[in-house]
Amino acid sequence: MSKWSERLSPQVQSIAPSGIRKFFDIAAKMQDVISLGVGEPDFVTPWSIRESCVYGLEQGYTSYTANRGTPELRQEIAKHFERRHNLNYNFETDILVTVGVSEALDIALRAVIAPGDEVLIPEPCYVSYQACTTLAGGVPINVPAKIENEFRITPEELEPYVTPKTKAILIGYPNNPTGAIMERSDLEKIADFAEKYDLIVISDEIYGDLTYGNAEHVCFAELPNMKDRTLVLNGFSKAYAMTGWRIGYALGNADFIAAMTKIHQYTMLCAPITAQIAAVEALRHGEKYMKKMVAEYNRRRKLIYDGFIKMGLECFEPKGAFYIFPNISSTGYNSTEFAEALINAEHVALVPGGAFGKSGEGHVRCSYATSINKISEALARIENFLKNHRR
Ligand code: PLP
Repeated sequence: MSKWSERLSPQVQSIAPSGIRKFFDIAAKMQDVISLGVGEPDFVTPWSIRESCVYGLEQGYTSYTANRGTPELRQEIAKHFERRHNLNYNFETDILVTVGVSEALDIALRAVIAPGDEVLIPEPCYVSYQACTTLAGGVPINVPAKIENEFRITPEELEPYVTPKTKAILIGYPNNPTGAIMERSDLEKIADFAEKYDLIVISDEIYGDLTYGNAEHVCFAELPNMKDRTLVLNGFSKAYAMTGWRIGYALGNADFIAAMTKIHQYTMLCAPITAQIAAVEALRHGEKYMKKMVAEYNRRRKLIYDGFIKMGLECFEPKGAFYIFPNISSTGYNSTEFAEALINAEHVALVPGGAFGKSGEGHVRCSYATSINKISEALARIENFLKNHRR
């Protein structure tokens, strides 16, 4: 029998395992580790949301749902977008409930990509964007965003990468891993660019509720003429501390959503009913809990940003999500060496910036979705590390 490595699909062979998980595995084997690695709220899902699920189970809600998701949840999502963004989506045709944004991302790309189609992906970015594009038979085209421009992307930076095969642009703001946001005026320029080259826009807005200070999230579909061209992805994992429930959704043109629903129907069937019941409660009554969590992330954000600046590391002040992305190149380490040496010497886990694309190299991603005490202790340990290990 030939080797398994030769039997695997070329697409699967061409993608690397996620660079985020590796450090969790090292951390899991150590005592006394402080993890700034994981992109997950340290809060438990608010009780009223959990309770709605318990009640649903008591009532016997244990079946499949409609492929697209329960009408109640799709109606709540439609109302939420009308309230928040003044956008009208038809809950019967324009919304698909998925198993996390992860699934939505995967099937969105599979629904539109023909072999060899190119997708513009500003980076540093979430680790799945390139991998899902490749798995769908497309070609990810990475476009570096610069720290000098607060990790925002401009049409001038995108233009040189456009070819006749460019089919879509995939953006994620507020951004994982940089914490960057795009102002309305920045997004308007991307909208003109998308129109000029007739591109599909896939906008991952999973951190849309997590913005700080004066920063305000603008949904890409709100921009003039952009609703039909844009697929908006969002979900409950981050803002409502619901990572384990696995609920996300996509909003967009009815034909695009119908195509995604076909894939979803054959591969996932539907998202779990228990989690859909909980998601309805989150949208109906969860905002006050979400706002409290956001206020707490903001305190932590200030603490960690000040900490890195005091240590003398170049650092962009994050405006959204719950990550900070300091530049560690002055230490003489590359990002993987830095993360490995830090975890071994001081038992602090973070993620090398190179995991988020080449332009992330020289940085490390720290999540501040962890307690103030742990962040303070992690900062003290990192400071100690810098004193003893600068090359
Ligand atoms: N998109 C971004 C930018 C993320 O950071 C994550 C998770 O870390 C996801 C999507 C996946 O989220 P979900 O839990 O909804 O699958």
